[in-house]
Amino acid sequence: MQTLPNPTTNSASTTPAFESTIKRRKTRPVSIGDVTIGGGYPVVVQSMINEDTLDIDGSVAAIRRLHEIGCEIVRVTVPSMAHARALSEIKQKLKQTYQDVPIVADVHHNGMKIALEVAKHIEKVRINPGLYVFEKPDSNRTEYTKAEFDDIGDKIAETLKPLVISLRDQGKAMRIGVNHGSLAERMLFTYGDTPEGMVESALEFIRICESLDFHNIVISLKASRVPVMLAAYRLMAKRMDDEGMDYPLHLGVTEAGDGEYGRIKSTAGIATLLADGIGDTIRVSLTESPEKEIPVCYSILQALGLRKTMVEYVACPSCGRTLFNLEEVLHKVRDATSHLTGLDIAVMGCIVNGPGEMADADYGYVGKTPGFISLYRGREEIKKVPEDRGVEELINLIKADERWVEPD
Ligand code: SF4
Repeated sequence: MQTLPNPTTNSASTTPAFESTIKRRKTRPVSIGDVTIGGGYPVVVQSMINEDTLDIDGSVAAIRRLHEIGCEIVRVTVPSMAHARALSEIKQKLKQTYQDVPIVADVHHNGMKIALEVAKHIEKVRINPGLYVFEKPDSNRTEYTKAEFDDIGDKIAETLKPLVISLRDQGKAMRIGVNHGSLAERMLFTYGDTPEGMVESALEFIRICESLDFHNIVISLKASRVPVMLAAYRLMAKRMDDEGMDYPLHLGVTEAGDGEYGRIKSTAGIATLLADGIGDTIRVSLTESPEKEIPVCYSILQALGLRKTMVEYVACPSCGRTLFNLEEVLHKVRDATSHLTGLDIAVMGCIVNGPGEMADADYGYVGKTPGFISLYRGREEIKKVPEDRGVEELINLIKADERWVEPD
């Protein structure tokens, strides 16, 4: 399992730590324990354990494993009242054996009683508007009249009210998590299986929360198809802007699968929105162990300049001008320096284009002449050294600048 250095912290005392050219959509801060989503805070990384919540020790261990590698909010599933009660013990054991960890719990079909129990024990409850007040689809139905639509809306408001009041009075949070695959039947009839239907589902629940003066809300509109997910989040951001709402958005592509394509699909959805300034917390959903999701999240955030949790390596692809085995040297440089979080280091094959294309890296390792490389500090050439001493001399240069720390 790949481990990561400590991420740039997301505690209440930290403002966004890393400069990016991305102008993020202004959102209100929503606190989940000591982590803040929105309000200009660093984009929060989330994942979800696979353990049965009734397995207290297994769940505590899984939450801890995720938290230790940088997952800032951990999600668990709560299909029954017994699972909801187990959260109390999980929380206590975490505090006794490790530390408190912000937890969000998924509540499913007709989950109002369970959600009320869950709200006593953890920081955030996730509900799915399509399932929270679940009406079995009727295959004979051909339409929903406005009166029928509104009647169900009133029932939803009544059912949701106690949960909203409980979360509001405790200063806790709710995620209104719409899924493309589980829209309520009346939304499907009225708006179709569309991004608009997803957005209307979320807005209906937001309005109920607002009518009760509850605003600790995070919204998600996940879909397994990236273009649908992109359209839904963009429409949501626009509708919220039009209506003066500033709730943070939780981004994700559901059922993204595994391996390289799962990562690319997640990145295509999540990073595209983040680059537009949309999104305050992310989860990469892979059909792999949840620990595998965290490095992907951090790579997306680092690549966009939204968080800096590792060394940024700039390296040319190599070509006929390359004066050394670039792949091998990059590995050596990475092995020696990957713990120096915060630095940008470039490895470039030649001095023809290398120095100009180092993208303002802090240090550069550039092929000079056969058998020799040049070390750079920023754009300034510092010294020419024999290639076989290149990595050692790079370390010496970083040490001389007092930017070196010993690896753990
Ligand atoms: S930096 Fe030099 S070696 Fe690397 S790709 Fe560009 S021209 Fe080729």
